[in-house]
Amino acid sequence: MVQQDNRVILFGGTFDPPHVGHLLMAQLALEQSAATTVWFLPSPSPPHKRQERVTDYQIRKEMVAALIYGYDGLVLTPFEEQLDSPYYTVDTVHACQSQFPGHRFVFLIGSDSLIQLPTWKDTRTLTHSIEFLVAARSGYPYYKTLHQVQQALPGLRAKLLEMPLLDVSSSFLRPRLLAQKPTCGLVPDAVLEVWKKWHEQ
Ligand code: ATP
Repeated sequence: MVQQDNRVILFGGTFDPPHVGHLLMAQLALEQSAATTVWFLPSPSPPHKRQERVTDYQIRKEMVAALIYGYDGLVLTPFEEQLDSPYYTVDTVHACQSQFPGHRFVFLIGSDSLIQLPTWKDTRTLTHSIEFLVAARSGYPYYKTLHQVQQALPGLRAKLLEMPLLDVSSSFLRPRLLAQKPTCGLVPDAVLEVWKKWHEQ
């Protein structure tokens, strides 16, 4: 029998910067599942963002640590740094499953990322390997998105995370931070301090 403490939610992302959307979805995922831990897995170099300039991995890790500080069960797990680039989700999931055979994993994702799933590496293997917990995102209603993705990937197993739509994204916040404009609480102060420490020296 699988013990409750062995259930882990994997939360992959770029986190450039991490924001309240990430924090809320992780917290709600913990509350709405039998898992006791959410592993934040910042990607050292996200394969789908190769054309974009991404903030240094060290800074993103520090920002994630600042985001989740004080939240029980939310853990920074820089697991992908021990893997070889490129960092595809299917490889990360399999590495987690083989290194932690007693754990049962679920993958937390936004519906805007879910719609991209058919373009990811080895998606049939991935969807066979792990179940998804999905937070709806503006423009990607859950059931419509799920239906569309299941046409391409009939084996996809997914559950809806109950969460109010929170229309905040790193790509909205990044230029504001670079321009030193207020982010009005969408990026917690502790995260802002890390950002400033690295960007305003
Ligand atoms: P960007 O705008 O640069 O694409 P992002 O805000 O989507 O960044 P990521 O680090 O890429 O942040 O996201 C990690 C995961 O969290 C993805 O699966 C994404 O869909 C999901 N996510 C991020 N923000 C939200 C949000 N506000 N609501 C629901 N899901 C979210």
